[in-house]
Amino acid sequence: MVRAIAVAFAACSVLIAGCRPAYESARIIATGADIIPRPVRVESSQGTFRLQATTPVIVQAGAEGADSVGRYFIRTLAAAGGMELSLVTRTAVADTDNAVILSLEGSLRTGFGDEGYILSVTPRQAKISAAAPAGLFYGIQTLRQLLPPDAFSSVPLQGVLWSVPCVRIEDVPRFPWRGMHLDVSRHFFGKAFIKEYLDLMAMHKLNVFHWHLTDDNGWRLEIKRYPRLTSIGAWRVDREQDNWQKRQSQQPGEKAAYGGYYTQDDVREILAYAKERYITVVPEIEMPGHSVAALSAYPEYSCTGGPFTVLPGGYWPNVDIYCAGNEGTFTFLEGILTEVTDLFPSPYVHIGGDEADKANWKKCPKCQDRIKGEGLKNEEELQSYFIRRIEIILNARGKRLIGWDEILQGGLPPNATVMSWQGMGGGIAAAKAGHDVVMTPTSTCYFDYYQAKSGEPEAPGGFLPLDSVYRFEPVPDDISPGQRPHILGTQANLWTEYVPTASHAEYMVLPRMCALAEVAWTMPELKDFDDFLSRLEKQYSRFDRMGVNYRGRTVRSTRP
Ligand SMILES: [Zn+2]
Repeated sequence: MVRAIAVAFAACSVLIAGCRPAYESARIIATGADIIPRPVRVESSQGTFRLQATTPVIVQAGAEGADSVGRYFIRTLAAAGGMELSLVTRTAVADTDNAVILSLEGSLRTGFGDEGYILSVTPRQAKISAAAPAGLFYGIQTLRQLLPPDAFSSVPLQGVLWSVPCVRIEDVPRFPWRGMHLDVSRHFFGKAFIKEYLDLMAMHKLNVFHWHLTDDNGWRLEIKRYPRLTSIGAWRVDREQDNWQKRQSQQPGEKAAYGGYYTQDDVREILAYAKERYITVVPEIEMPGHSVAALSAYPEYSCTGGPFTVLPGGYWPNVDIYCAGNEGTFTFLEGILTEVTDLFPSPYVHIGGDEADKANWKKCPKCQDRIKGEGLKNEEELQSYFIRRIEIILNARGKRLIGWDEILQGGLPPNATVMSWQGMGGGIAAAKAGHDVVMTPTSTCYFDYYQAKSGEPEAPGGFLPLDSVYRFEPVPDDISPGQRPHILGTQANLWTEYVPTASHAEYMVLPRMCALAEVAWTMPELKDFDDFLSRLEKQYSRFDRMGVNYRGRTVRSTRP
């Protein structure tokens, strides 16, 4: 059992203001429970609470959302333990014995925001209190980690003693944006894996799924106005036996049959799954570059007119991009974005914006006319013009534009949020200009990079061991206190050029996702890599029960 711990946490009563933490320095006296990400405060006491088939999950009558959190918990436990607890609605819940209690208490909002929670386990009951259902959900995630690792079993187990150590935990996230990205264009991943990915995120209290749905190697989203995007754009020739960078493009007479896509019904199913886990799904529709799959289907929106075929592998430089001089391009993209914004409830739509080579724009009469007609200086400003027009479309539909840091080129659209990947510089510049930022620099957040110097499956390059992820600090020193709230948070990205299977994807994100969770959720004063490694052992046991692939126990601290 976890031994007593006292965490001296200054100014604990006001942990966050709104959804942004205003934390004070903390001092750790002893190790907490084996919970990842590490909570703010853990106080253990003697004894255990035992969940049995007769233990109800009690929610307050009329507490909207609490019942769905309760049903989620009941389902996870039924799947692992074959024990179906009952959901009970009551007007007064506080003193019920032998119960799991989910209590919504608006007064907690001041200290805990919508995502924080208090979990109190006594021999009589386990009670989670939060201001909003999201907080109850994160309390449930912590409760699941206090149960034996068998609670994560993918098959029903018999004879498990479902006991929870007595503990009081107060917890609140550091950042509102705690993201994981997945590239489903370079390789397609089916619905089942997307749900598993969302489950892994939920377990780590991550709340933004950045879904990279389009790129040069496949268009993965059904758009009813433009059916060729998926009938043509979702399929490429199979060159899986060849190195990604050396793949021959589709030859005359060859059939493109490797790929796949999500129907809008598939997407709705995944969105419902994400919603139940308090995960926002941010769709990415790439433009003006990384658009060869779309242009294979609709070549008239390129500068050259094509023809193109969906690329089976690496492609550089990224010259075949949308024509910025053709009005039809914007009509086409508006049609796509209309369906995207109708489908996805996310307040953000990611429009890519990265790595667009402007060589064709320099040669294209329409693009050059646009530059002259709009009084633009050069092709960089043409990219800015392009992104601004897209922002107007999104803003009119009540959405915010987010893009990779190249959207700074030629001037940032007025309301845009920047995802800083080429180091921290783009994010710093954007935050100083008053824009919101998500920090995801390659050096600490690119999970396609190698996890060790040798013995790893082939990757595009880079080196990102677990401790480098763990030590990432998303708020740079040269951001003033007033600008810090513009740093919404962080996310890690899994590009999949070298990741053809679900099992390989699991291996690339685990356990680095565990480290990212602690960067995004845990207060920096509470981070300790060696303590994290000791807690990771229990996380590996949970992964074993889930049957997921992970890099594993060979990882050790590289610093004293
Ligand atoms: Zn053009």
